Amino acid sequence: MNLDQYLSEAAAIEREGTAALSAATDVDALEAARVAFLGDRQGRLKSLQESLKVVSKEDKPAAGKRFNEARAHLQSLHDERKTVLGRARQVGAKEDLSLPERRAWKGAKHPVTLVIEEIEGIFRELGFTVAQGPEAETEWYNFGALNFPPNHPALDAHDTLYLEGGGLLRTHTSPVQVRTLQRYAPPIRVLIPGTVYRRDFFDASHAPAFAQIEGLCVDEGISFVDLKSTLNLFAERFFGASRTRFRPSFFPFTEPSAEMDVQCGICGGSGCPACKGTGWIEILGSGMVHPAVLEAAGLDPERYSGWAFGMGPARIAISRYGIPDIRILYDSDVRFLEQIAGPVLSGAEG
Ligand SMILES: [Zn+2]
Repeated sequence: MNLDQYLSEAAAIEREGTAALSAATDVDALEAARVAFLGDRQGRLKSLQESLKVVSKEDKPAAGKRFNEARAHLQSLHDERKTVLGRARQVGAKEDLSLPERRAWKGAKHPVTLVIEEIEGIFRELGFTVAQGPEAETEWYNFGALNFPPNHPALDAHDTLYLEGGGLLRTHTSPVQVRTLQRYAPPIRVLIPGTVYRRDFFDASHAPAFAQIEGLCVDEGISFVDLKSTLNLFAERFFGASRTRFRPSFFPFTEPSAEMDVQCGICGGSGCPACKGTGWIEILGSGMVHPAVLEAAGLDPERYSGWAFGMGPARIAISRYGIPDIRILYDSDVRFLEQIAGPVLSGAEG
């Protein structure tokens, strides 16, 4: 092969290679052109390099220089095209850029949190503030101060996990009532949300750790009328209940004590599966704060009186959203949360 032949062959390869690399409209086509011209095995430049062996010794420097020029030109053209096409693929140049953005679901509040926040909102309007306290408690705060006599059967419902050193995991948020009464002087109106623990099996309607929310109102001259009117107002606001009823009950820390039911909103009181045919749905326990509890917290029960209530936001969430099994609330399955909370999308307000 003489020098002229070699130079024209190099020019042809450079021209065709330039055309092929420039014509590639995506990364895959560019790679095919690279293999065809710059490829190590069967690329056109590789065979041009092989041809240098048959060029005469005096023509070799000129031929080699031309080969290097052609290779450098095609290589830099390839690199440049690769950058451009790679960037185009990232922004999705093939897609219609005028289409609206595809939004990702960014998450939502848990149904139990939604219920707690709504309850808090209603009671805040009535002058209540939110109080919190430790989940690991002493026996005195969890039982003693709340008028649980030692060995009383009421303790059975409050079996819990005991910690090394004599503490326990609180079985209700009521210890925070005592802590609040010790810390602040009446008038007191607090709402106490928090996690509590019981030695319950984890089944469709029980969990060993669950949310509770309690309310406490203590001042001079507080009576059962205050309890009833406040809780009736709450039931009307929260459940849309037109009727409520109070049934006598027992709690060690209140006297008298009452369970509060709201008329079933689904059947209007005639009886249906949601209310187990009774026409009523039990929503909370309540009562007048026992004088022994006020005394344990350092208040004079002759001067002060109060009322309190407690309820389970998880049970309310279950009946409100028609959730068949309480364990779903603990599964952290975002598909479930999305169903309850609706779409909360990235880029959306809030
Ligand atoms: Zn019903």
